[in-house]
Amino acid sequence: MGLKYRKVLDNITPYQPGKPIEEVKRELALKEVFKLASNENALHPSPKVVDAVARAMQDVNRYPDGGCFYIREALSKKLGISGDNIIFGNGSDEVIIFAIRALVSPGDEVIVSDLTFLIYQIAATVENADVKVVPAKGYGYDLDAILDSITDKTKMIFIANPNNPTGSYISDTELKNFIEKVPRDVVIFLDEAYYEFAKGDDYPETLSLIENEERNVIIARTFSKAYGLAGLRIGYGLARGEIIKILNKVREPFNVNSLAQAAAIAALEDDEYLKDSVDLVEKGKKDFFKRLEALDVVPIPGRANFVLINTNRDSVKIADYLQRKGIIVREMSPWGLTGHIRVNIGLSEENNRFFEVFEEALKR
Ligand SMILES: *Cc1c(COP(=O)(O)O)cnc(C)c1O
Repeated sequence: MGLKYRKVLDNITPYQPGKPIEEVKRELALKEVFKLASNENALHPSPKVVDAVARAMQDVNRYPDGGCFYIREALSKKLGISGDNIIFGNGSDEVIIFAIRALVSPGDEVIVSDLTFLIYQIAATVENADVKVVPAKGYGYDLDAILDSITDKTKMIFIANPNNPTGSYISDTELKNFIEKVPRDVVIFLDEAYYEFAKGDDYPETLSLIENEERNVIIARTFSKAYGLAGLRIGYGLARGEIIKILNKVREPFNVNSLAQAAAIAALEDDEYLKDSVDLVEKGKKDFFKRLEALDVVPIPGRANFVLINTNRDSVKIADYLQRKGIIVREMSPWGLTGHIRVNIGLSEENNRFFEVFEEALKR
């Protein structure tokens, strides 16, 4: 009775994650359920990761290494940067929270795009930032509109590249031109959760941006997607040392658990697994598009491990039907994309089953 809490929380709709497989199995008494809703890796972790976690399990009576020494060493070697340029988070979600908590003061403006990852807005609102949502251009970021909305109160701009939930991406040239026009004191947060799937061609290699002393750029990447460790929660931020030092001040001392650290070290060493993940998505996506184009729906081209589909129908009904048949996809009305669903590329068995049921759903 009479609980007082921060009024800003009235503005927050908690993030609704995709339903877990077990919950759907229980609710619908289904034997087999395929989850294609949360952009996870369809592949189980590699045996090397499983072994590393089993070994690390022996020592979970101890707190983890709060400094993430070995994974920092491994990642800094892999990326060719200093360990001082890296901060680890309990998922890269936590790096987003660090950035806002450490750098944004109440009343500062944070610019986010519409049709993007919802955590930016939630985290910024919690910290009493003034969040400006810039309308998307089609399914992608409207970088010119973002530039136009910058004021002298703007503190941070979030860019998901590739974007989730649309898969759209910003090319190297577009990004460099954009960054050139952003005032120097504004922090540019580049969320590259799908980096491993997107890299190549004209996708920007952004690492050199963090070496520029005059630029406040933070890059976030994760082990949750291409490395297949979503359940363990480990991601990282890359920035120049001065920024990392500040972000560390709001980090809890043992934020990354020891199993996640051990798994990430093993995952980084397993090039074959990474290649298999990327190949699975690449081949699966081609196949998806071919099959979708034969249907009366519009697939949205993207560079991540999922496909956004305009079903041209009531997507709530379609997602419900799929779920009743044991296929969990993401229905997109929470983003204002009525008629759309987002489906991640699965194993061929999962994809086949999706198409079987999706075609039934479209005919109803
Ligand atoms: C999946 C995702 C993340 C990463 O989440 P983790 O916390 O690292 O699991 C970050 N940003 C976007 C845009 C994503 O889609």
